[in-house]
Amino acid sequence: MVRSRVQPSERGALNEARREGGWVGLPDPPDSELGGLVGRIRRCRICVERPLGRPLPHEPRPVIRAASGTRIAVCGQAPGTRVHASGQPFTDPSGVRLRDWMGVDEATFYDTSRISVVPMGFCFPGQDAKGGDLPPRRECAPAWHDDVFRALPDLKLVLAVGLYAHAYHLPQWRRRSLTERVAAFREIMAQTNPVVVPLPHPSWRNNAWIRKYPWFSADLLPVLRARVAAALEG
Ligand code: SF4
Repeated sequence: MVRSRVQPSERGALNEARREGGWVGLPDPPDSELGGLVGRIRRCRICVERPLGRPLPHEPRPVIRAASGTRIAVCGQAPGTRVHASGQPFTDPSGVRLRDWMGVDEATFYDTSRISVVPMGFCFPGQDAKGGDLPPRRECAPAWHDDVFRALPDLKLVLAVGLYAHAYHLPQWRRRSLTERVAAFREIMAQTNPVVVPLPHPSWRNNAWIRKYPWFSADLLPVLRARVAAALEG
């Protein structure tokens, strides 16, 4: 399921790094035990010790919230500076907007038994020369995400937030633009199981996009809120 910029030759090195670093416990299960998997992710140092390219410029601080039995997964990009500091996902204005899109309050959003948060890169990737956040580390999804989603068998709804999450969760739609994917939300939702809802990132940087495409607020968000409510009710 992983669709990444990692080449086959690099994937072998990444798997070796996971084994040598002890990030994947041996023998190979208990990968089915989500708690153990999340624990190994929280100890992960791949991007410092065996990076693909430049190493992470700071100590890893993986941010992931997941519990087996969860019905909803929020899959964004990677922590920014505020989330890197807090250690909790979406503790920023983007989180406020995302919860409004979903129609949930903070207590519900941070109830791990109900909602998992699995970004495409678990650690803050650093910033470019202009102060913009770098893309999610390309080591992360190939190293961990297939295992994480295998350990969430009860998922009903996946919120794919932003380009990188679209690439992983909707690989068959990779030739379309983000706008085309979001506009095709009904078709995508009908084709996917668990149901994937393609969303733009809720960052203020997308304010102009949201204004330009009023159907997003008028048509998609009511559907999203209804699906979230139904998934929470079980
Ligand atoms: S970004 Fe992912 S692969 Fe890299 S150190 Fe953090 S958890 Fe490990």
